Amino acid sequence: MLNATDIRKSFGTREVLRGISLSAAKGDVISMIGSSGSGKSTFLRCLNFLEHPTQGQIALGGQVLACKRDRNGDQTVADPAQLRAFRARVTMVFQQFNLWSHMTARDNVMLGPIRVHGLSRAEAGERADHYLSRVGVAHRKDAYPGFLSGGEQQRVAIARALAMEPDLMLFDEPTSALDPELVGEVLRVMRSLAEEGRTMIVVTHEMNFARDVANRVVFLDQGVIAEQGCPREVLSRPQTERLQGFLAAQA
Ligand code: ADP
Ligand code: MG
Repeated sequence: MLNATDIRKSFGTREVLRGISLSAAKGDVISMIGSSGSGKSTFLRCLNFLEHPTQGQIALGGQVLACKRDRNGDQTVADPAQLRAFRARVTMVFQQFNLWSHMTARDNVMLGPIRVHGLSRAEAGERADHYLSRVGVAHRKDAYPGFLSGGEQQRVAIARALAMEPDLMLFDEPTSALDPELVGEVLRVMRSLAEEGRTMIVVTHEMNFARDVANRVVFLDQGVIAEQGCPREVLSRPQTERLQGFLAAQA
């Protein structure tokens, strides 16, 4: 499904990602852990080209995204048409939800299918209703984000990502901005998506999610994968001091 090879990213002279390779097969749920600043968000953003990797290659379903040096010679740039198609297949759920505040929940979910898939308003509305009910917020569809709880907003954001019918879903700390009592409703939705076989990469500090739902855990440290493997193995028998320290700090 996804093959990212030797992804590197520098901001100025600072290399934040120092050669990360990661593959995901269909149905894989990969949780990505690591301390703040280790490069988790940057890596996810590179996977759907919100950031352009400085170097490396990304392939989705066997299709390699053409990367080339731009005029400055220091960035990889994909072909714009190919990039649009790729982005529609890889959707991201953010920590801060990022819903449009001037649009109802339903309109937020309809926007992508209309703009990217060319659906009519009626078709997009049907699709939105389907996914809003899938995440349990159908009854809130006409509300504006400001009138929704954080948990509802994040579930709308998940519905919006689902409505693109993506091949791969990326989650960047989807529960970190939520009040503790709202975390469970979002994790339940994510768990059910995992159970229905969706391919997901989830940056999270929820160690129970990483242990119980993911089939692989990846520990990022200073821009490289320091450890990875089966969650039970990696989380109960960390090999590196860095991961031991990280896990001790989570407890
Ligand atoms: P994480 O998500 O693991 O906390 P990030 O990927 O957000 O880490 O950040 C990794 C490093 O890259 C941090 O040191 C951060 O300051 C730096 N960084 C992230 N985005 C930018 C940017 N747009 N410009 C400069 N530095 C950045
Ligand atoms: Mg981050």
